[in-house]
Amino acid sequence: MSAQRRGPSPERLHITLPPWTDCSGVAIRLDVGAAVSREARDEVRRAVAEEHLATLPDQATWIWSDGSAEGGVASGGSGALITLPSGEERTTRTPAGAVCSSTRAELVAMRAALEEVQQLEDATSATPLVLCTDSQAALATLATGAGEQRTTLGAEIWRLLLAAPDRPTWLQWVPAHCGLPGNERADELAKKASSLPQAAAPVDVRSLTKAVDRAASKAWRDRWPDSFFRRIMRDRFPTPVLNETREDAVNVHQLRAGHWGLSTSYLHRIGRHPTPTCQQCEDLKCPAALCLVCREEADTPEHVLLHCPCLAGMRLRLFGNIHPDATRLRDGGAVAALARGCLRHREPAGYGRP
Ligand SMILES: [Zn+2]
Ligand SMILES: [Zn+2]
Repeated sequence: MSAQRRGPSPERLHITLPPWTDCSGVAIRLDVGAAVSREARDEVRRAVAEEHLATLPDQATWIWSDGSAEGGVASGGSGALITLPSGEERTTRTPAGAVCSSTRAELVAMRAALEEVQQLEDATSATPLVLCTDSQAALATLATGAGEQRTTLGAEIWRLLLAAPDRPTWLQWVPAHCGLPGNERADELAKKASSLPQAAAPVDVRSLTKAVDRAASKAWRDRWPDSFFRRIMRDRFPTPVLNETREDAVNVHQLRAGHWGLSTSYLHRIGRHPTPTCQQCEDLKCPAALCLVCREEADTPEHVLLHCPCLAGMRLRLFGNIHPDATRLRDGGAVAALARGCLRHREPAGYGRP
């Protein structure tokens, strides 16, 4: 298959920056976040941000960058507004990948803007640089340091930041959507960039493995038939049954699947528990399907685990309540204990296994 048909390969980091790289010329500032609450009104957040921005040099190259990703996972778009000390403006718009996280889109925006600045200015420029972003996650990724970056993108951003060693640089966090003009314009550029062709935009390994994980769990959930246990788990994955004997684990899995091989109603349904009045049927009201312990109703998983009166004491011990919330049955250990309890109740009465 040609490389073109396959699309760009996932980005991988081959050379990290050495751990002793001096990053002291780059200040990462999250001070605005600490000074104003997320819930504050837009005007208040904007005023606090402007107050902090006023402490940064005016005679500088200013970058406002932003990223967007549909649902935080797809169609990444990255945009930036660059204002040079002369007042001249430049903008960048970059697709960030068909599969992409919001943080990655933010980082792609920063890289594109820094590359653009490098093109426009002398590499040895000492003009201060201020980069404003509303992504705390992107800044947190960079704040771990130049030598600690685990992605090509993070390492490239640090290389660009350190290319002009005499340039004082600030990476400033600003609150989003509160009317800061630079942030609004970057947001617009990022949104427009998300509709650019994505075919040539590389996808990183992390976004790719997360996408595969999402697709596999969705396919798994879509195939899970509606059942008592599915309703208990809602959209969660059942946890593995690790600390039980093999016999207990089989009980747990069969109860979860709604086909407990030791249940009278199940055996009657498949013709393995015939009685003189009924050889086989699917009717849960049939006397041959009744719970061998209480004889009140069919011994479905729901009955055994939640309703059988003979196991009330055990439920009280396990859950502190004889009518526990069904979600407590997410615990495989509790299901195993109730199955054992049910079987123990049968044996002394001489019923044993059906
Ligand atoms: Zn029957
Ligand atoms: Zn019962």
